[in-house]
Amino acid sequence: MKKRIFLLGATGSIGTSTLEVIKKYPEHFELVGVSANSNLKKLESIIREFKPRYAVLTKDHSFKDSDFCKVLVGEKGYEEVIFSKDIDVIVIAISGIAGLYPTIKAIESKKRVVSANKESLVAAGDLVLSYLEKYNQNIIPVDSEHNAIFNLFSRIEKSFINKIILTASGGPFLRKDITEKTSIDEVLSHPTWNMGNYITVNSATMMNKGFEVIEAHYLFKLDYDKIDVLVHPQSLVHGIVETIDGTNFMVASPNDMKFPIALALFYPEIPEKKFKTIKLDEKPLEFFKVDQKNFPLLDFCYEMGRQGGLSTTVLNAVNEYFVDIFLKGKIKFSELAKTIIKTTEKFINLNKPQSHYSLDDVFTIDREVRTFCEKI
Ligand code: NDP
Ligand code: MG
Repeated sequence: MKKRIFLLGATGSIGTSTLEVIKKYPEHFELVGVSANSNLKKLESIIREFKPRYAVLTKDHSFKDSDFCKVLVGEKGYEEVIFSKDIDVIVIAISGIAGLYPTIKAIESKKRVVSANKESLVAAGDLVLSYLEKYNQNIIPVDSEHNAIFNLFSRIEKSFINKIILTASGGPFLRKDITEKTSIDEVLSHPTWNMGNYITVNSATMMNKGFEVIEAHYLFKLDYDKIDVLVHPQSLVHGIVETIDGTNFMVASPNDMKFPIALALFYPEIPEKKFKTIKLDEKPLEFFKVDQKNFPLLDFCYEMGRQGGLSTTVLNAVNEYFVDIFLKGKIKFSELAKTIIKTTEKFINLNKPQSHYSLDDVFTIDREVRTFCEKI
């Protein structure tokens, strides 16, 4: 039987790759629901092509029902589709903390949850874990590093695992200095991955890798000293698991999100080949340590992650705020990492974040942090 998919964030970069995967395996998947935020033009073309039964919008845009597609709005809309009998798999491809609420509802639905949204684990990892335990569920990660490690973890017994290594491309500033003149275009020209703007900026500061360390801590229930990062500029090896005997198990595939998306949708099966694969003899594979001086946000993520509780909620909100400001041209890239660290520390010093919290606490802190940032 075909798996019936609700794709949240269908208009984004991961959303688009997911649609391509669905198109390549029509005998396995059917797109039954989609969601979008602002890109109505793209939503319209997706609806025309895939004819989903449901479309959920964040706000009411007077977007009309069609003969076959019912248009819903906001949290109620997400819930109606997530809990509908027409859906088997929920794919979260929304960016930012906006992915948290649907993630929690998807877990409650006890359906298969496939998620690319790392921010919900960064902002509310303990809370998401408590829901996963309560509903005896798991999240199948799409993020390429976590998808690689998830696949290795499901094949290697945990007691044999010593540590994991996430690879990082190094972004556009691996071999280029960040100066006062660094432009938005330079920041957005990622050398190996083609992604949405927010995550591309995070890759340039290495905040993305820091967030992925926190994401891995929660997904795989590992202490932070069991999670390493290595720069691997070719972006072909995505995740490495080192077992207790010192063997390194690595997963390699093209720098193309369709691979982890397909593996996540098919898990535990492996789909037949439909996309261009890598040729391992084409270029040498390199690995080296991260230059901490150029990328202070990576270490800062470890620090905030170890602090735990709502510290990473604050960090996530500060980052979302200032990356947005940067994309609007209101802050220099050379000031971005420093500003994020200082603002996070300042907020945490003034409002000691609690260690036990609810979903409402997360949204309250998120709002408070954004107001705090506006004043800076
Ligand atoms: P994009 O910016 O390309 O797409 C974001 C999607 O989320 C769009 O569909 C957008 O709708 C929707 N969206 C944005 N804001 C809101 C909101 N407030 N409420 C509801 N929906 C919203 O992002 P990506 O596809 O790059 O990333 C999506 C997630 O996947 C992120 O969490 C990212 O960290 C993660 N990820 C991405 C990778 C990549 O290769 N792109 C790799 C690994 C992880 P609209 O366009 O209609 O406004
Ligand atoms: Mg990644």
